[in-house]
Amino acid sequence: MSSLDNPLPDKAFDSGLYIVATPIGNLADLSQRAVQLLTAADIVAVEDSRVTGKLLHHIGLKKKMRRYNDYSSADDRDRLLAAAQTGVVVLVSDAGTPLISDPGYKLVRAAREQGIYVSTAPGPSAAIAALSISGLPTDKFLFAGFLPAKEKARAAAINGYRNIDATLIFYESGPRLGSALAALALVLGGRGAVVARELTKKFEEVVTGTLPDLAARYANETPKGEIVVIISPPEAAGTAEEGDADAALAEALTRLPAAKAAAEIAHRFALDRKQVYARANAMKSKCS
Ligand code: SAM
Repeated sequence: MSSLDNPLPDKAFDSGLYIVATPIGNLADLSQRAVQLLTAADIVAVEDSRVTGKLLHHIGLKKKMRRYNDYSSADDRDRLLAAAQTGVVVLVSDAGTPLISDPGYKLVRAAREQGIYVSTAPGPSAAIAALSISGLPTDKFLFAGFLPAKEKARAAAINGYRNIDATLIFYESGPRLGSALAALALVLGGRGAVVARELTKKFEEVVTGTLPDLAARYANETPKGEIVVIISPPEAAGTAEEGDADAALAEALTRLPAAKAAAEIAHRFALDRKQVYARANAMKSKCS
């Protein structure tokens, strides 16, 4: 007997809350079990009824949908959980696995607190899909979701990851990719990285390089579509020459004024001079 169970017959689901993954771009990735659960659902909790409506239409279903997101009230949650006591409530997000940079955490937590049966139809998630084809170490990884949009908060967040001994995974958008890569290169130096774009879709693209290479490539290019950035752990970092731009900047600041140190390090690591200068000033003010 293999470890795989037989597919469930229709309607063989206990009442409860089911977290169901949906495709990240290719409808053929919708699992048979996801279809069975959506068919059995009494309520489908959705981020956006237009997006899930299309998916349901694709599989010939019309279902009662209820909007659910991070801003939903405790009452909204309680209503869904009351329904899960006696029926099948399915939570989906617009794409991929719910709760992974998507709504659902508070709902699952509340369901567990209330002793409601919680189960899953697992499936696509962009983070795992990208990691699996990145060629970067997969034994230990940290999924960090989206970096903060504001420069200062983003730099602080990246700084918090610099000593983590694991492959790092970030979600990113096209318009922010260039500046995010520049900020990552500044703190994490010459580590190997991968930009995985539009996975499972027509224009899927995977670009590999060091962080400074990728920062330079995307400095003036705004790629379309959805993006995952993967970065190797510190051990697998590039050459000593590429090393850690932050450490190099700290060293340069011991012998040069901020502007000159920033110019030198920006040139050496192919980074944005303005960002390096801002970082130099931040370092100086920390020390003073
Ligand atoms: N819950 C989803 C999952 O499991 O992957 C992620 C939802 S999050 C709101 C959306 C982000 O995931 C996008 O901005 C992008 O960073 C990433 N993403 C989603 N689909 C993708 C794809 N087909 N290719 C690359 N990245 C994707």
